[in-house]
Amino acid sequence: MRYDKTKKILVTGGAGFLGSHLCERLLGQGHEVLCVDNFFTGTRRNVAHMLSEPRFELMRHDVTFPLYVEVDEIFNLACPASPVHYQFDPVQTTKTSVIGAINMLGLAKRVKAKIFQASTSEIYGDPEVHPQPEEYWGRVNPIGFRSCYDEGKRCAETLFFDYHRQHKLSIKVVRIFNTYGPRMHPNDGRVVSNIILQALRGQDITLYGDGSQTRSFCYVDDLIEAFLRMMETGPEVTGPINIGNPGEFTIRQLAEMVIDLTGSRSKLVQLPLPPDDPKQRQPDISKAKQGLNWEPKIALREGLQKTIKYFEEFSSYPPAQFEA
Ligand code: NAD
Ligand code: UDP
Ligand code: UDP
Repeated sequence: MRYDKTKKILVTGGAGFLGSHLCERLLGQGHEVLCVDNFFTGTRRNVAHMLSEPRFELMRHDVTFPLYVEVDEIFNLACPASPVHYQFDPVQTTKTSVIGAINMLGLAKRVKAKIFQASTSEIYGDPEVHPQPEEYWGRVNPIGFRSCYDEGKRCAETLFFDYHRQHKLSIKVVRIFNTYGPRMHPNDGRVVSNIILQALRGQDITLYGDGSQTRSFCYVDDLIEAFLRMMETGPEVTGPINIGNPGEFTIRQLAEMVIDLTGSRSKLVQLPLPPDDPKQRQPDISKAKQGLNWEPKIALREGLQKTIKYFEEFSSYPPAQFEA
């Protein structure tokens, strides 16, 4: 028990893209933040600006091993998020989601902390329902290349709900849809980072297929606001709740916007569409609107401007130097 309103908050995966923004917001609210990360995809550089703050502590630790600390709240974000990263060591990816969840839930149980899980729209797999409401159970291949991520995250959700029912833990599960912004990994192979870097370097912009497939992109600040609102809800709110930006854009529209914003002379080129590439992905965020009184506020154009500014710093370096 602490004497004041400031809390000690653990953020696993805190040196990653989303985690570093979350740490920043929590420090801004006056809390003490314990950032735990094994630096697989996260970097010290992502949190360097917080290291001089006495309320911030950075700890190298892998969540697949037990962790004994005293905290009031836990945000569990540790897990590589993009296919190139989570398929690099798929066994470790499953361990991170499953054993990591068990350890963090065990910790939450011992110290009676509220615990938040960063789940994903990928738990819906290749969905038959558009947009996906939280009630949809998904369509996931249990033995494919993506399964380590999708099934790992599904099992983590199962563990969260069983610890809730069996041990009365206060849990908060959010399902995150495509998010972008400063500090996203430059060589994660995702469309936003690829296109921005190609535009800044004057290289051809790669559209897979004809670019008519659509995606919905949420700016990181909007997403973190939803995380904080979710954590503040009463014990009756467990989720799962979808968080994302329902605004839908074709990949071609995204590319044209980036060209316009960067003033790039890059040309659009078409490459083959990868197998199983979904034609459309869009979150149904009715529950978040109603339950968290939240909806995204930052338009794609504005969010891209901020992201481009961040990437400008990197554009003059060869890709190899982006390794985490
Ligand atoms: P990220 O790769 O930038 O961050 C993940 C962090 O976890 C990294 O800092 C990494 O080093 C750390 N990590 C990985 N394995 C670990 C382990 N075993 N022990 C300790 N730390 C470990 O990715 P992100 O985009 O910031 O994603 C954060 C969370 O949000 C992930 O759980 C991810 O699945 C989820 N998510 C993200 C998105 C998105 O669009 N960015 C979408 C859906 C879900
Ligand atoms: N655990 C941890 N920190 C703690 C308490 C538990 O890392 O402060 C881990 C520990 O490895 C344990 C797991 O969480 O195995 C699950 O804990 P739980 O109490 O649910 O189960 P048990 O201890 O009975 O295995
Ligand atoms: N994509 C593209 N060019 C790229 C990278 C991706 O056209 O350089 C396409 C990809 O085929 C997909 C969409 O952009 O249709 C989003 O891809 P991403 O990997 O970012 O996310 P996801 O498919 O998981 O939503």
